[in-house]
Amino acid sequence: MCRRIFAVLEDRQKADPENENSITTEELGNLVGLKKRATQNHLSNLFQRGRLDADRRTPIPGIPTVAQPQLPGAVEWARRVIESDPVFAPDPTCAKCLVALAGFGWRGQIAPAELAAAAGVSVRSIERHRPHLVEWDYIRFRIVPVPDEGTGKFKGGRKPSRFELMSGFYARPLTDEERALVPGRAAQIIDRVRWYVGVSPEERFNAETAVGFVLRAGWPEEAILKALDASEDRHAFNPNGYLHKLLGKLRGQRYLIPAQESFTGEGYRRLAECSVCRNTTWTTAPASHRVLCGGGVCLEAGSEHDTRDVRPLHRSA
Ligand SMILES: [Zn+2]
Ligand SMILES: [Zn+2]
Ligand SMILES: [Zn+2]
Repeated sequence: MCRRIFAVLEDRQKADPENENSITTEELGNLVGLKKRATQNHLSNLFQRGRLDADRRTPIPGIPTVAQPQLPGAVEWARRVIESDPVFAPDPTCAKCLVALAGFGWRGQIAPAELAAAAGVSVRSIERHRPHLVEWDYIRFRIVPVPDEGTGKFKGGRKPSRFELMSGFYARPLTDEERALVPGRAAQIIDRVRWYVGVSPEERFNAETAVGFVLRAGWPEEAILKALDASEDRHAFNPNGYLHKLLGKLRGQRYLIPAQESFTGEGYRRLAECSVCRNTTWTTAPASHRVLCGGGVCLEAGSEHDTRDVRPLHRSA
């Protein structure tokens, strides 16, 4: 039956390539002798197998998995979103854009014209629907800061932007147990901000306190370090002012979990027990993985592979 529905849609596409007179599920059902619900099931099945586009009407030629072999994860995630989000589903253009964008990866850089071509919609449609995707927290765009040849003018709309697929979910604030670890984590973060030097102990304490607020709101280390340009060897004339300015962008905000993080389970920080010493530690490994308090090693036991030359590391309590 899937085959017959697919054939009907193929014929229609030939007759009406722009899909100006979209067929309803009921009409389609009538043509193949099925009730609406059964037709819906077949359409959904065809879509999940990648034979139909997200609008459930446009046949995808050939074997669809070949089209995007490099990034099945992102496309699979996008399809799941469309299947499972009841608010999202009725907007076929947004659905097309999301699946097309996912074909470029979890993150990347794309111009509206490229996305339009990939999604099979007009650039104007992209411009109209892009804000929907942002509003639903499925995408974050950042305009690529490339000056326009000579003129220096910059019009955001049709220029390439960096994008990242987002899960639509925000990190929860920390629990009491997790909050107990915040001062230590905050100190470690400040340690890693290379330009934050030449400050008084009091200023440093205030900086840690400010980072602590952001950690308690659920922001992971990596995101905070990134926001702080931690690895940059810049010279800050006023390190405190600069630090608080950068942190100010995060304070009062929640951490929107990237789609890749939510989909693969990697990168999502959680508390776990070291499988050797049983100390509580932070990990980004998926739940099924063995956790060690030092990442690749147990800090109490040293290397688990070759312990002959490894002195146990003692952490100051
Ligand atoms: Zn079927
Ligand atoms: Zn839309
Ligand atoms: Zn350990």
